[in-house]
Amino acid sequence: MALLRKYFLYLVRWQLSTPILAVCVVWFASMGTTVATILANLIGGLIFFWVDRWIFQKTTILKGEVWEVQQDIVCADCGHPADHGYRLAKKSNYDRLNDKRPEFRCQDCSRRKYEKQFGGDEPHFRSD
Ligand SMILES: [Zn+2]
Repeated sequence: MALLRKYFLYLVRWQLSTPILAVCVVWFASMGTTVATILANLIGGLIFFWVDRWIFQKTTILKGEVWEVQQDIVCADCGHPADHGYRLAKKSNYDRLNDKRPEFRCQDCSRRKYEKQFGGDEPHFRSD
């Protein structure tokens, strides 16, 4: 559902660039279609860089978190084997992307660690 909403917002955002493209192509028509389109895309890019940034910040499913998932792990906390292990690699003010010895945890331990470290907000694991 979140992806569908994001997709719809993205399609609406593309339509917002239509008037800019149309006006610029008409304005710069004397320079030729290619140059007019380049200028239109340049102007559109200057505007929509900020619009896209806002859209993707507001609709990020994981709130900007980057999770790593590994199959067939032994949990770093409880020591039990698990089909999938989880590890938070990046979050605002937390960056373990280049961790030399990454630790993966089962879903329960990973959730427990997350809640202990960052408070009430649960991580949003994908169920597939
Ligand atoms: Zn565990």
